[in-house]
Amino acid sequence: MRYYSTGGDSSFVGFKDALFQGLAPDGGLFMPENIPLLGKDFFKTDLTYPELAAEMIKPFVSGDLSNQQIDEIAELAFDFPIPIAQVNESDYIMELFHGPTLAFKDFAARFMARTMAMLLENENRELTILVATSGDTGSAVANGFLGLEGIKVVILYPSNRVSVIQEKQLTTMGRNITALEVNGSFDDCQKMVKQAFLDNELTESRFFSSANSINIGRLLPQSVYYAWAWKQAEEPKVFSVPCGNFGNLTGGLLAKRMGLPIEKFIAATNANDVFPKYLRGCEVTTERAKQTLSNAMDVSVPSNLVRIKKLYNNEVDQIKSDIISWSFSDDETKRTIEKLKEEANYLTDPHTAVGVLGLKKYRVETGSMQKGIVLSTAHPGKFAEVVEPIIKEKIDLPDPLQSVLNKEKQAITIRNQYSDLKEFLMES
Ligand SMILES: *Cc1c(COP(=O)(O)O)cnc(C)c1O
Repeated sequence: MRYYSTGGDSSFVGFKDALFQGLAPDGGLFMPENIPLLGKDFFKTDLTYPELAAEMIKPFVSGDLSNQQIDEIAELAFDFPIPIAQVNESDYIMELFHGPTLAFKDFAARFMARTMAMLLENENRELTILVATSGDTGSAVANGFLGLEGIKVVILYPSNRVSVIQEKQLTTMGRNITALEVNGSFDDCQKMVKQAFLDNELTESRFFSSANSINIGRLLPQSVYYAWAWKQAEEPKVFSVPCGNFGNLTGGLLAKRMGLPIEKFIAATNANDVFPKYLRGCEVTTERAKQTLSNAMDVSVPSNLVRIKKLYNNEVDQIKSDIISWSFSDDETKRTIEKLKEEANYLTDPHTAVGVLGLKKYRVETGSMQKGIVLSTAHPGKFAEVVEPIIKEKIDLPDPLQSVLNKEKQAITIRNQYSDLKEFLMES
């Protein structure tokens, strides 16, 4: 498969280059030259999750990974359960948070780490993975790469804007993982990482790669669970996705292009409402990201917006025929967590609650009682300080979260200035 840049540069690269470059040289994001149509019967076939993943990903990595290699990666990466809870007659919640760091980002991070390690086997360059995180990416990426030979991971996270547990997960890993605590926002972190990739002085002397949702390697595995849900939950028509950088949603759009018959995507956002406004015809303007209870979605301009525009040839009306989008407040989020607990005895984290709100609003606005599924992106225990006061109960933390709390934080503090990041990277 060949990949092009959304930036307009007319050259193509193979999967391996797109994966390791992360960001295209012209500053754009990589997109596959074409999206193979798998056909409806494919999605009805009985496959295990790793088999489904391998089949959906193979066409995108052909030329760089053999079928056997991709089978092996899928088998290693996707080794945790994906329960689907039914909360009432027509509403389902797919729990994507049973991986090692208890957020859906484990799908992408575990796939990427194993793919990169496999592709690096015959090289003796040391790779540094640079990653900006709004909370969950960093720990998922670090966990995926932890202890892998020849790979270092540097995580940038916004100081005081991640949850207590998230910070512990980011800063206690050790070994080949370093956490940089940035005095700034997630947008600042993301900008600094982007700048590093465009800095020739840096990239000429070192081998860098990203693991943010800008990386095509993140996107591919995020299309698979849509197909899994479609089969397991007996053909839901609508998918509600809590969105930040819109990588999760873009994975779903790829699945649809591959032939998965999804009627509508609901892109649910918190107060950071650039995308719903864009669909209503507003200009996309960079604003400061607003801080909310669903902090992993505190993104001003979603980085995958350029990919979504490409997929639909910049036609907002086309986008609107597949995606509907609303923004929800923290108050609505809190009430949803409370109500779901009361009425269905089901506990959600604040991000998932935004997705639940999206599906509810869709039903109210359209009168549709079609089967719908919410993608649940994190374990509620990761956001205990938000969730516990709402439900007035303690959440039982799963073992991996409990043990991380007892470890000591180790982070290097830097300003939200690119020069600080560069200095660190030049010296390390
Ligand atoms: C990253 C994240 C999101 C947003 O996903 P995007 O792909 O950036 O839209 C939502 N919920 C949680 C818990 C996350 O960690």
